[in-house]
Amino acid sequence: MDTTKRILICGSGVAGPTCAYWLHKYGYSTVIVEKAAALRDGGQNVDIKGAGQQVIEMMALSEKIEANNTQERGQKYLDAAGNVIAVLPKGALGTLTSDFEILRGDFAQVLFESTKDDCEYRFGRFVTALEEKEDGISATFDNGKTEDFELVICAEGINSSTRDMLMAAQTRFRYLGAYMAFFKIPRREEDDRWAYTVNGIGGTFITLRPGNEKETTVLITFLRRDHDMFGDTPAARRRLLRQALDGRGAIADRVSADLDTVDDFYFGPMSQVQASTWSKGRFVLLGDAAFCPTPFTGKGTALALVAAYVLAGEIKRSADHSQAFAVYERLLRPYVEASQKQLNPRRIRLIHPRSGCGIYLTHLAQRLLASQAVQRRFRPSAAKRARMAADDFLFADYS
Ligand SMILES: Cc1cc2nc3c(=O)[nH]c(=O)nc-3n(C[C@H](O)[C@H](O)[C@H](O)COP(=O)(O)OP(=O)(O)OC[C@H]3O[C@@H](n4cnc5c(N)ncnc54)[C@H](O)[C@@H]3O)c2cc1C
Repeated sequence: MDTTKRILICGSGVAGPTCAYWLHKYGYSTVIVEKAAALRDGGQNVDIKGAGQQVIEMMALSEKIEANNTQERGQKYLDAAGNVIAVLPKGALGTLTSDFEILRGDFAQVLFESTKDDCEYRFGRFVTALEEKEDGISATFDNGKTEDFELVICAEGINSSTRDMLMAAQTRFRYLGAYMAFFKIPRREEDDRWAYTVNGIGGTFITLRPGNEKETTVLITFLRRDHDMFGDTPAARRRLLRQALDGRGAIADRVSADLDTVDDFYFGPMSQVQASTWSKGRFVLLGDAAFCPTPFTGKGTALALVAAYVLAGEIKRSADHSQAFAVYERLLRPYVEASQKQLNPRRIRLIHPRSGCGIYLTHLAQRLLASQAVQRRFRPSAAKRARMAADDFLFADYS
């Protein structure tokens, strides 16, 4: 496709900058608009497994990621009083801790640093209207200005407003029956390099993970029948989280006490995005905006990386945008749908036992998972993990 006109990318999370990186390599100029006033550096560790790892290697970012490694040693399951139920060191079957351990915010920063000289970033900016023309698409921004682009790539994450402006009818949310929140709290002296997970009564699931020298990262998920929004302000979020944490033990009390220090919550209903098509004319969806699998699959970031690579490559090698978007969707859809299928409301309920009896059974399962017998029998070797990563997705060579 023609490289003379600029491509607009909405969203500077993971998918947007990755796509900008590859488009620049192929000779395109890109503009990234990000609604937030600055790069959002929130979140816990993100999983970069399988094919996502290969994209990182192709971008020559492995060393930078290793330099930001959180050095997490593994995961410990606790009971409400803080006693250790099970220990899953790095490399164990079923542990959260993966080979590439980086905080989402640090990863977003690495991607930003790798693209900021070759792509124009505009923070605190978003699209208010789009109009398709014969030879391009014009975008109007919140400052009232209108500019012409060749294409618009929408990588705004799960709650994308530009997607909803153009493709609400094609987008379905599959609610999984729980809410989720990622944020950071002040680090305490007792925080070490382990991740700690505790199941609370009523279906609350809390994980604390090592962040940086000053902060510890938090993931809270909790069952909730309805996904009504309840006045979506930081104060309303704190209120809902406090309800979910109340009476759930020592770790929950600590998080609840620190909630007033939190401003940037990644928060909302745990839903998958299932769009019946990923493009409309010169407008295309990418990353969570198109196919959010939810953080519990551990696949959102890897999918975003793989999809950004494929979309940029197909834009480069196709005769026009219709062909590029059609091939992008045909190549990715089976991979994406397989990831989404890993999770369903029943599985979410299993991970979030409500009663004392359910939590007791969960502790037994956690002990069994961590036992030497299970680990020896089922843990994949490093060589097998590498083979699985290589077979995860077969990339075309766009160079
Ligand atoms: C602050 C934050 C913390 C997160 N923490 C975790 C985590 O700990 N673990 C995990 O597995 N996943 C986390 N995620 C989600 C994870 O980043 C994504 O699932 C995955 O990496 C796919 O990335 P994405 O670029 O598609 O979406 P995202 O990473 O969600 O990025 C979307 C970007 O678009 C911006 N945006 C939204 N609306 C607009 C608009 N209208 N115009 C312009 N920009 C817009 C957002 O501010 C954001 O920067 C987090 C996301 C965010 C934003």
